[in-house]
Amino acid sequence: MKITDVKTFPVFHGSRNYLIVKVETDEGIYGVGEFGLTWREQAGIGAIQHMTSDLIGQDPMNTERIWQTLFRGDFFPGGRINMAAQSAIDIALWDIKGKALGQPVYMLLGGKMRDRAVCYTGIGGKTPEETAKAARERVAEGWKYLRMSVMDRDGVLEPSVAVRDSVAHFAAAREAVGPEIELCLDVHTRLDPPDTIRLGRKLEAYDPFFIEDPLRCENPQTYRLVRQHVSCPLAIGEHYATKWEFRQLIEEELTDYARIDLCIVGGLTEARKVANWCETHYIKIVPHNPLGPVSAAACLHLDIATDNFAVQEGGRVGSAFLEDVFPVQVPYEAGYLLAPDRPGLGVEFNEAAAAKYPFQWGHGPRLRRLDGSFTNW
Ligand SMILES: [Mg+2]
Repeated sequence: MKITDVKTFPVFHGSRNYLIVKVETDEGIYGVGEFGLTWREQAGIGAIQHMTSDLIGQDPMNTERIWQTLFRGDFFPGGRINMAAQSAIDIALWDIKGKALGQPVYMLLGGKMRDRAVCYTGIGGKTPEETAKAARERVAEGWKYLRMSVMDRDGVLEPSVAVRDSVAHFAAAREAVGPEIELCLDVHTRLDPPDTIRLGRKLEAYDPFFIEDPLRCENPQTYRLVRQHVSCPLAIGEHYATKWEFRQLIEEELTDYARIDLCIVGGLTEARKVANWCETHYIKIVPHNPLGPVSAAACLHLDIATDNFAVQEGGRVGSAFLEDVFPVQVPYEAGYLLAPDRPGLGVEFNEAAAAKYPFQWGHGPRLRRLDGSFTNW
């Protein structure tokens, strides 16, 4: 089997573009992958075009050899743009490999460690009462894990206010759902160490499953300081491309959960290596999935085959989502993604339907402090 073409499809829906990559072969089997850097899709399309000459004519079954060639082939190791592009290609190759062998991808990663992957979904509200109501509604739908976010007030994020608001919302959710539902808080890199420590100490009373990404990602060493003062579990890593960016987090045990993004880290090939490395430190994985059905499927296959899996970010799971573009998606039931039986990823992609949702330029929300300075979204 040989790769004959690599196509890209940016699909705008809701508030973002989903960049889908389709790899075609001379045997009529195709695979799909997804690019993980939202608002950098045109750079991703360019990176994939640069990689295409290394792909045409190659046997798509040789995923490791192709990974190494794309990563090391042009001397300069890939940054996040390249790695997100390479991730999309790698996931598509695993889809092809599964289809060619007539097996779901998880069977090629070790088989069924579990039958289904528990997922979390997001909750929130303008007031603690609204957050509590949302929490009760999601639990009634079957969700066992819920996650809320540190919030701004009308585009302004003052850390002290955000810490107080977050604790109030978290406490209301805990009161609403009781002790048996797991609650998580995503800080989305919006705090610095002192405010993270204040937040962590106050949240301890409400038993968080994890606090996610309290700090910016550039300097993971700062988590040494947070670890000295906060006993709540941490979940970090959704920004990181390649095993090397995870190295310090894992080896120094600076996180309890690794937020591997399969569409940034280097695809299923690299995510598998990071997950196995985490296993040696008893770190569980919580794959990051804010994207579409291809990302969700790739995460699910890793979750099904991996012992040290904790919980899956549900993303769009549980709601009808772009069903004309993705007429077949991985199965979902009451807070769980189920192991699919179909060969490959278990996702079908309709090119003609994708053309109905053309690319749109844009960027993420921009938050500011009270004094007008920029702060992370
Ligand atoms: Mg996050």
